[in-house]
Amino acid sequence: MENLKELLEKSNKIYLENHENKVWFGRCIFLSWYCKLGTCKFCYRSTQKSRIHDEKNARRSLSSILIEALISKKLNWKVEFLTGGYGIYETEDLVNITKLVSEVYGEKIWLNLGAIKEEDLKKFKPYIKGVVSSIETVNKDLHNKVCPDKNIEPYEEMFSYSKDLKKSITIVIGLGEKREDFDKLKEFIKKHRLDRITFYALKPVKGTPYVKGPSTEDYVWWIAKTRINFPKLQIIAGTTYNRASGKEANKDEIYLLMKAGVNALTKFPATKKFNTEAARDIEKQIKKSGREFTGTLTKMPEINWDKEIDNLNLDSKLKEDMKINIKQYIKRMGKE
Ligand code: SF4
Repeated sequence: MENLKELLEKSNKIYLENHENKVWFGRCIFLSWYCKLGTCKFCYRSTQKSRIHDEKNARRSLSSILIEALISKKLNWKVEFLTGGYGIYETEDLVNITKLVSEVYGEKIWLNLGAIKEEDLKKFKPYIKGVVSSIETVNKDLHNKVCPDKNIEPYEEMFSYSKDLKKSITIVIGLGEKREDFDKLKEFIKKHRLDRITFYALKPVKGTPYVKGPSTEDYVWWIAKTRINFPKLQIIAGTTYNRASGKEANKDEIYLLMKAGVNALTKFPATKKFNTEAARDIEKQIKKSGREFTGTLTKMPEINWDKEIDNLNLDSKLKEDMKINIKQYIKRMGKE
């Protein structure tokens, strides 16, 4: 087996030759707790489907979605992507939400809303920079078992008509893949000329068959191998509160992820766990690795939020809702 230390020395060197010595945090903004499919074996939404009788009740409020876009902008985070399960809104509503999020954030955003039909994708185009396909695993047999109703083909088809949009996939490590599957991942990245990839370490969710995430060694191995094979690719790695705080992973996993060559971190519940010990530890490990963190997970800047909201081009009712809701966010983030 390859020596992990040597692998990380190589991936770190390649990262530094091809990217700025920085790392950012990407906030994933989700729209709903519901998914019409609801059959992927590792997914939280699959445990919720039978409990949700009306999908409208599982939607997040528009004001909280837009608050997250505003907080991301002001704390120098990026919007990782806009996401949600299948069947949560009509296309026109999704286009409108995407438009508003991109306006509040001030940039086009990435979209991860399933395999979108060609004619629908055109409607999103003015507001998005790229599309993300949640592939989860490129091992077809494993994919059929884990995501029996979410075929890879429609996602591949979407890439074929995405044209000038950037392309990205998400991969979950810990579903049962083998290291031999790396060649399949390599082929997939090449075939679709991906610009970006987001890795997640499986988060074991109660009510699913999974009880354990991958080891730190396995997680960083996949990422380092990807960096070595694709020096220019944008690589993002998810971390959870439990992994970042060392409960479900090595205490130095964030440091090792930097050495593996990630451009960004995501998934950490940054507003709920802002300035917690885990958040502070993420920043410490980034610093120890020699990287500069471009955002913050610990220091709330002085911001007049009401004024920021007033400056947005939104209707007055929505602005009022945002002003009420944002107080809870800021209060929670200022706790520790
Ligand atoms: S399609 Fe996505 S949101 Fe729906 S169950 Fe599968 S992984 Fe979860």
